[in-house]
Amino acid sequence: MDNQLVKQPNNSNGIQKALKIAVAKGDGIGPEIMDATLKILEAAGARIEPEFIEVGEKVYLSGNTAGITKESWETIHNNKIILKAPITTPQGKGYKSLNVTMRKSLGLFANVRPVAAMHPYIKTNFPEMDVVIIRENEEDLYAGIEHQQTEDVVQCLKLITRPGCEKIVRYAFEYAKAYNRKKVTCMVKDNIMKLTDGLFHKVFDEIAVEYPDIKSETQIIDIGSARLAARPEDYDVVVTSNLYGDIISDIAAEIAGSVGMAGSANVGTKVSMFEAIHGSAPDIAGKNMANPSGLINAAVMMLSHVGQTKVADKIRNAWLRTLEDGIHTADIYQDDISKMKVGTDDFADEVIARLGLTPEKLPVSELSKGSGEINIPEYKRTPQKKELVGVDVFLDWQGTDPNEIGNGLMHIDAYKLKLKMITNRGVKVFPEGMKETYCTDHWRCRFVALDADAKSAEPVYQAINFEQIVDLLAKLNMKGFDVIKTENLYEFDGKRGFSLGQGE
Ligand code: NAD
Repeated sequence: MDNQLVKQPNNSNGIQKALKIAVAKGDGIGPEIMDATLKILEAAGARIEPEFIEVGEKVYLSGNTAGITKESWETIHNNKIILKAPITTPQGKGYKSLNVTMRKSLGLFANVRPVAAMHPYIKTNFPEMDVVIIRENEEDLYAGIEHQQTEDVVQCLKLITRPGCEKIVRYAFEYAKAYNRKKVTCMVKDNIMKLTDGLFHKVFDEIAVEYPDIKSETQIIDIGSARLAARPEDYDVVVTSNLYGDIISDIAAEIAGSVGMAGSANVGTKVSMFEAIHGSAPDIAGKNMANPSGLINAAVMMLSHVGQTKVADKIRNAWLRTLEDGIHTADIYQDDISKMKVGTDDFADEVIARLGLTPEKLPVSELSKGSGEINIPEYKRTPQKKELVGVDVFLDWQGTDPNEIGNGLMHIDAYKLKLKMITNRGVKVFPEGMKETYCTDHWRCRFVALDADAKSAEPVYQAINFEQIVDLLAKLNMKGFDVIKTENLYEFDGKRGFSLGQGE
């Protein structure tokens, strides 16, 4: 079943009704830039009805560590669209980031950040740049699953899921199609992380073939981000996982010079949130100095997301024309280019005065020329045959000679399961390790049941059952080995579901 992200409600005559949206005025400059933005939305004829919600500093300081009231959650659940001004998270322990809470609990899987040069009104070395970074928002290293395992070693789990990859990659192609973008670039590091980043890449290739009119390419994240920084005009839509996306979206905004002007969307299949990239700027709060452009651009994204692309274009074009006419707030004022320095409120009035006009030099916004429609199909799991073939047992051992622990483990007699190798930080140290390899107190010992009669060059594994693993662990424990964790080894449809050790 297709799932269009947000449907604009119709009344009985088929005419679009005003869409109720949850609006958070935020802290610091938040209320000023929100008032300016809402004024423009109203003047442009946006069919929205704001319902204000309480989030941020006041809520935190009232003793609510999440920074959001129960009533605000209800409004969000009912309205499904949030326009949010920046908030101030009070310093000190115990306050949870509202953005992270919203992202995780509302399933906002895609962070969308369009970054376009506004040359010469905003200084940049890349006047042709016009990139949209689409970052996966819910998984990867940000799951927050971290453990200290030994005195020397801590670990963080990188979780990449097929439904997560399918949603974000599909969103990137649907976005490109909906807004007439020509190319989607996938950035991964699957030369190293063959399973996790490999899955992202594989899903990208699977979905790309469904969009023959959109060019697709994959780049390794290190060279990809270097090229993005050197030649951003070569990129159109970039899709990537959470951590890489976090980094490259800041690189992109920085080199475009537009951190203060960019809006972003956090999109989910049920709820979506739109906001400026910048923070609450307490240093200039209440002074009518703040630039409302970031929030205006976030509102433009919101309108196109809910299908009001014509109004979105009208606002974006009036805003571009205001910049071109040299009407600038203090943060972007330049003596040689600017003509008039204005405050937040006057800037909004100047944009309103230009509604209906288009820019003469900067690229005209044409969101309404695309379909604007984004469909994310529901995830369907393909059943696979899963077979247990071994176990990686992680030991805390403070010795230094891998042969000592290796020879000790070789003599453990657990039905079918035999020690195949030991790695330390992923490098094989037993059997036949190199004496130069530095070893910590964290030893990964791989026990598998190999089919000794198999003729293939690749190891052929025999199926085992979980009781055999329990038996092995009991024996290790009895012999005094300090087991800190285990990782089962599976084959899925006969394919190895685990990476080999370096040198295995
Ligand atoms: P900031 O973005 O608020 O300010 C950095 C600098 O940019 C300041 O000099 C500020 O005056 C200026 N600036 C920012 N937005 C501007 C605008 N629209 N017009 C003119 N100048 C502007 O970053 P910060 O100082 O690191 O953070 C301040 C607060 O904002 C902190 O409490 C932080 O937690 C919060 N914050 C919130 C969000 C959010 O709600 N999404 C995002 C980032 C930071």
